[in-house]
Amino acid sequence: MFLGYKICLKKFIYQKQISLIMNKKNTIYNSDTIVALATASGMGAIAVIRLSGANAIQIADQIFKSYSKKSLVDAPSHTVHLGTLEAKNQVIDKCLATIFKGTKSYTGEPVVEFSCHGSNYIVEEVIKLCLANGARLAEAGEFTKRAFLNGKLALNQAEAVADLIASDSKASHQVALQQMRGGFTSEIEALRQELLNFASLIELELDFSEEDVEFADRSQFKNLLKTIKTTLSSLIQSFSVGNVLKNGIPVAIVGKPNAGKSTLLNALLNEERAIVSDIAGTTRDTIEETLHIGGIAFRFIDTAGIRDTQDQIEAIGVQKAKEKIEKASVILFLFDDKDNTVSEITTFVKENYREGAKYVLLHNKTDLSLEETTAFDDEILQSLKGYTDTLLRISAKEGQNITELKNFLADYAQTLSHIGKATVVTNIRHYEALSNALQAIEKVEEGMQMHLSGDLLAIDIRETLYHLGSITGEVSNEEVLGNIFSRFCIGK
Ligand code: GDP
Repeated sequence: MFLGYKICLKKFIYQKQISLIMNKKNTIYNSDTIVALATASGMGAIAVIRLSGANAIQIADQIFKSYSKKSLVDAPSHTVHLGTLEAKNQVIDKCLATIFKGTKSYTGEPVVEFSCHGSNYIVEEVIKLCLANGARLAEAGEFTKRAFLNGKLALNQAEAVADLIASDSKASHQVALQQMRGGFTSEIEALRQELLNFASLIELELDFSEEDVEFADRSQFKNLLKTIKTTLSSLIQSFSVGNVLKNGIPVAIVGKPNAGKSTLLNALLNEERAIVSDIAGTTRDTIEETLHIGGIAFRFIDTAGIRDTQDQIEAIGVQKAKEKIEKASVILFLFDDKDNTVSEITTFVKENYREGAKYVLLHNKTDLSLEETTAFDDEILQSLKGYTDTLLRISAKEGQNITELKNFLADYAQTLSHIGKATVVTNIRHYEALSNALQAIEKVEEGMQMHLSGDLLAIDIRETLYHLGSITGEVSNEEVLGNIFSRFCIGK
């Protein structure tokens, strides 16, 4: 009984100490009433103006006259009211007011949303009216920040709200949605709690150091460290996939000058974006275009033709092309059977091969091909065994097999990840916190192997707890929060 109490106390003190390193979230909370336009600005059918804070309902009541003659203060929560917004008995607009009382709202505090007609003038007047009655203008992301501070969302879930708004493909939408619904929050939180338990037991042992007792079962602790390491490693690894799904899969289009790279980019995009010309070396810089195929964004990068060149500007382009290959997930290598030899092609692929990237060989200009047989292609595939087994015969100019190429890319993206099923990390801040936590947990493991004393182990355990807590926002500070929420738009 006594021991149980001491363990609880230790855990409490521990949690407090870690939170103290950075301000605990509740201490920075401030509930004045804020107002902002929640929909996009500009003319539209409807504009939603949102008020949130302790006095939201009272402020709304001052400026909104309900047709039912009932005051919003007396109306039940989660109800919609038709009426007029008025300034000094002058009607500004006829609108709907939706009210959320108490803590059951997006922000976790009283909220009123006015759905007005979407005129800039009306929006300005209504906001002015709210300000005159005691509200202040919301800062960027302040509604979501309040949702976090009021415990409605973990920090990583709040960040996913911004990703969801920015999502422009099925894949980026799915990863944001998965994260907003919790993503890996519960997994991280559960591990953090278990680690906290052990940390408290280890610290408790220090109080009984003279009696040489062991409250924390070392073999169980080792198992926990192993589980944490495995979880962290797989989340860290998922970042490359997550990042690609969020920002688009980078696809480099490479090959000799005049291989048809710009023509292919145009064929993929169905428009004349890249300059097509017969003069070798015309695409001197890199051109990037995003295209959605099968709900996934692909970033196609048309590079300068790769060849040895004396032209300085072209040489920079060639260097850039090589850098793009380094960063691409898919490399489309174009060649034709007149301008390239088998050994040229295979040497290029082998020299520029990168583990983890997918090489697709594109035999272009097959409309001009005299050869009906595929002997040329077979020879290439034979000598590139182990590098790639994908070769498509296309004509960029005639649009032949472009659909097949798109289908191939869509299928490949599906294999990258079971989108929406596996948990993926898409945020660089989470990636860094997870990497730091992994490093710290490895130090704990080393410490265990070296039979370090409990007080030394505790230092690295604390560090791990700190990094894990920073993902969900268990520990955070004004600067970190400011950084995250300033990237939101005003009104979110
Ligand atoms: P890049 O230097 O690799 O970007 O090559 P371009 O796209 O500028 O194309 C060079 C030349 O090859 C242009 O005259 C294109 O019209 C031509 N070309 C590209 N693809 C094909 C194709 O599939 N068939 C034929 N016949 N000509 C093509």
